[in-house]
Amino acid sequence: MSIEVRNVTKQFGEFTALRDVSLTVPAGELVALLGPSGSGKTTLLRIIAGLETADSGAILFHGEDTTDQKLRDRKVGFVFQHYALFRHMTVFENVAFGLRVRPRRDRPGKQEIRDRVMKLLNLVQLQSLAHRYPSELSGGQRQRVALARALAVEPRVLLLDEPFGALDAKVRKELRRWLRRLHDEIHITSVFVTHDQEEALEVADRVAVMNEGRVEQEGTPEEVYHSPRTPFILNFLGNVNLFHGRMENGRAYIGNSSLELPAAAFQDNQTATVFIRPHLLDIHHQPTESGNFPAHVAHINAAGPLVRVELVSEWGDPVEVEISQDRYRFLALKENDKVFVTPKEMKVFVEDYVI
Ligand code: ADP
Ligand code: MG
Repeated sequence: MSIEVRNVTKQFGEFTALRDVSLTVPAGELVALLGPSGSGKTTLLRIIAGLETADSGAILFHGEDTTDQKLRDRKVGFVFQHYALFRHMTVFENVAFGLRVRPRRDRPGKQEIRDRVMKLLNLVQLQSLAHRYPSELSGGQRQRVALARALAVEPRVLLLDEPFGALDAKVRKELRRWLRRLHDEIHITSVFVTHDQEEALEVADRVAVMNEGRVEQEGTPEEVYHSPRTPFILNFLGNVNLFHGRMENGRAYIGNSSLELPAAAFQDNQTATVFIRPHLLDIHHQPTESGNFPAHVAHINAAGPLVRVELVSEWGDPVEVEISQDRYRFLALKENDKVFVTPKEMKVFVEDYVI
């Protein structure tokens, strides 16, 4: 079942939390809402769920306006960051709860509840822990129970608000791979809120990047990562070096150095902001023919898959470069070396004013 968010605006008093947000979640896909804290992700998710109403705009499920639908009829499964499980109930009872509280005529029989709950516990790989209490589970296991509980009532859509936010980094990584596999199995239309770009890019079919109450870009993880439409998105989706430059004769100048541009379609005498990711910079001991700028090595951290080199440019700005261990050994780099930094690829955003 698809979800369509159509021109949704939401104010809290004077404050505009969502500004004319439109977004489509195709049936069976997992879409991540990614953005910094306060960008409106939870507000949008709550409006989709029907827990909050929009000031204007509409939410459509499978092409049907949900505005007048009761909460129950929307059939939404919700998992929060802190989904407090019922402490006095076992894992089994927690998952069965949503089925047991149904009015008698909709309530499945005892055996059917049992079968359904065990099937779900199987799906979240907790079948052997059915009789434990929440206090006897790890954080990751608890969130898997919360997910099974949300799925028990057979929702048409699944909404997850930072479900792994309270877990430590390693468990978070495991759980997002697990969620990805689970989604491949059950294909329920899902919206996953996170402020963690790595999590969004890894888990989602599509990513909507939010900033100050707007969806600033929507696309596949590859699209938003490799073709960010705004400096904000570029910055938000990973480490990046930022240089202030100017355009002259189709070249970007930063400091006294000129850099070859990917596309020289800019007008002269414009200021430019040049963004280069650390792994798209290389280091040489001698000036290269293509553009480069002088810098000196301030610090080297070789403990990792890549070597992180912190440099200071000749005009005094910090620059971060990531090179392979092989390249590092080949260069025999040391702190205080004077070197030349060469971009392999960059993104240039030109501000529209003339010097
Ligand atoms: P996110 O989930 O992206 O961190 P939220 O949607 O929770 O952001 O909040 C967006 C903005 O709206 C925040 O600045 C928050 O303070 C404000 N906000 C959210 N809910 C309310 C509310 N009930 N009353 C007033 N302001 C709110
Ligand atoms: Mg939130």
